[in-house]
Amino acid sequence: MSAAAAPRKRAAPQGEQPPPKSPGERLGLRGDWDYALHLPLHYVDETRITPIAELREGRVAVVQARVLQAELMAARRRVLRVQVEDDSGRLELRFFHFYPGWQRNYAPGRLLRIRGEPRRGLFGFEIVHPVCRQASAQDPLPQSLTPVYPAGAGIGQAWLRKAIAAALRRLDMREWLPAQLLGQLGLPSISHALQLLHAPPPQVSLEQLEQRRHPAWRRIKFDELLAQQLAQQTARARRAEQLAWPLVQQRGGLATRLLQALPFQLTADQQACVAEIAADLRREQPMHRLLQGDVGSGKTVVAALAAAQAIDNGLQCALMAPTDILAAQHLRRLAEWLEPLGVGVAWLGGAQRKRERDQALARAASGEAALVVGTHAVIQDKVQFARLGLAVVDEQHRFGVAQRLSLRAKGAGEQRQPHLLMMTATPIPRTLAMAVFGDLDISTIAHAPPGRQPVRTRVFSEQRRDEVMRRVRELVLAGRQAYWVCPLIEPSESSESGAANGQPELRDALATHAELQALLGEQAQWVGLLHGRMPPADKARVMADFAASRLRLLVATTVIEVGVDVPAASLMVIEHAERFGLAQLHQLRGRVGRGSEAAQCLLLFSEPLSETARARLRALHETGDGFVLAQKDLELRGPGELLGQRQSGLQGLRHADLREDEDLLELARDAAARLLREHPQAAREHLRRWLGGGTDWLAA
Ligand code: ADP
Ligand code: MG
Repeated sequence: MSAAAAPRKRAAPQGEQPPPKSPGERLGLRGDWDYALHLPLHYVDETRITPIAELREGRVAVVQARVLQAELMAARRRVLRVQVEDDSGRLELRFFHFYPGWQRNYAPGRLLRIRGEPRRGLFGFEIVHPVCRQASAQDPLPQSLTPVYPAGAGIGQAWLRKAIAAALRRLDMREWLPAQLLGQLGLPSISHALQLLHAPPPQVSLEQLEQRRHPAWRRIKFDELLAQQLAQQTARARRAEQLAWPLVQQRGGLATRLLQALPFQLTADQQACVAEIAADLRREQPMHRLLQGDVGSGKTVVAALAAAQAIDNGLQCALMAPTDILAAQHLRRLAEWLEPLGVGVAWLGGAQRKRERDQALARAASGEAALVVGTHAVIQDKVQFARLGLAVVDEQHRFGVAQRLSLRAKGAGEQRQPHLLMMTATPIPRTLAMAVFGDLDISTIAHAPPGRQPVRTRVFSEQRRDEVMRRVRELVLAGRQAYWVCPLIEPSESSESGAANGQPELRDALATHAELQALLGEQAQWVGLLHGRMPPADKARVMADFAASRLRLLVATTVIEVGVDVPAASLMVIEHAERFGLAQLHQLRGRVGRGSEAAQCLLLFSEPLSETARARLRALHETGDGFVLAQKDLELRGPGELLGQRQSGLQGLRHADLREDEDLLELARDAAARLLREHPQAAREHLRRWLGGGTDWLAA
């Protein structure tokens, strides 16, 4: 429907606002379960009253005492000082912020219940800004510890406590998990766990509670992980009901001929991955596999062999990559391998002439192009395939779930789904893979092809930049090829994030380009520039010049991060390395050390360096192993950031922490399988309770 034909929205009357959000909504709380699962950060013990004489510095306590006098002092600052007394001693309360009428609340003789953190003042203990209310002598004390909840601005603890208590009373807390399972795991019932967490008895171990190790906490985390595992295993079972074209392998077929034509032998890891994928492709259920391997480990050839298997069966293969540069590189490599064997290859890129595009579209639709390579352009509506048998997504984490789904949907003709192969060079630690990709099969290339030189990584302060530049000049004049990576393109970008808030100005690619040209003097034409805002044709030309050694020193932004493969380049400088994430630095570094020459990576940083930034640079200096670094990254950042919230499905994990709860994750995985087999209703109810309808991310 065109915009003009769409029904016109009624113009909102002036000043009409969307209804204000309730405090609960502002915290993301909607249903009763959300409230029940809004768990305390810590607790205050108000179950007993401490005599003033027994107060201890810094230990929050509740005191019951009578007001002796209240006075308003107008010294440098206005202060309301209230003297109170119990049978054991005296205490002073101080308020720096107060309303004019407050003094009246502290009339002499009034009995107060006071909570706060005592500190030692000039004349005994004092409490600044205590929480006070009027008490009566027979006022009962609470039976349980008082929870302190995560709250936002303007959302009071009292309001939250009431709302949560009400939700807990309304809630259906039936136990769905078999008693036997809970017994084995040593976990309490869900109602017991929730009651305990919101209102712990005074004798409970506060330390266990606040460190989230108490069995009640473990029950909550287990339930959360169980829901996730149930959802993933259900998704996997559902997928197993769908049909795909079974791709038989032919003796002497395309795959065999490709293997024979390659200038190298597959490594053992590559062979194992190829075998796993080939076995999946022979099945009548769609493959759903992730191929992971560090940068430069040789994933492309594995994908090419899978494509060959599809093409041998008269089906097409589509390969999608996140950037023009990377997609173009795949095109070059795959065309070089497959075209001589008679395979039609088509290209669908971002900026493409209409005629070329139309031609590519026609060849994809007719089936004449057995292999279609491109960027996001591959999933546009207009693109149709005659018979898509295999979809390959490179650097899959760069794409959203919807994009991966729409590539798969391109082949949904004749009730058959294409097989799906995803690839990533960001290795995923085992725990995370299990938590997030529990519904995926994973193949791993653990070791790079032989003959690779480890990249020697050194870290320099920005103050030694001149020295680094001289060194780069020497090496380039001696015939080496180098990348010089900058975080930004133009000075204008840095005006906000840079000098304005006191951070050092970021080096920008344009200025650095000019600087390095000057440095190389007569050889200035050897210095190239590559950044994301250049037209794709210019980017391609610069890359080709660099690959052909017409350019020796390439100043680039992170557009070179993924997949760029120029084996002759053996030196990389990264400026403002402290600004990049660990995975990103490792990816960047992976651009060198691909040839036979010993490679170096020089990381330049500027002060101030945060603790985590320092830890990142140290890790890079110490290891070149992507799996070790991924584990380190998980420790430094946590899983949500590591994968990107959008595609990780980790928005669901509010309570469990994959860094600490690995044991629970494994228990949950096994329990999920058993539950689905033996107690399907419990599995359904558990899923409903925890996930409601929000399981879209599982579909891809
Ligand atoms: P990535 O896993 O990062 O995508 P590529 O597929 O781009 O890695 O491979 C990196 C380089 O290694 C390419 O030049 C590729 O041709 C080469 N290569 C792949 N497999 C082997 C092998 N078994 N022996 C030697 N070189 C290989
Ligand atoms: Mg690659």
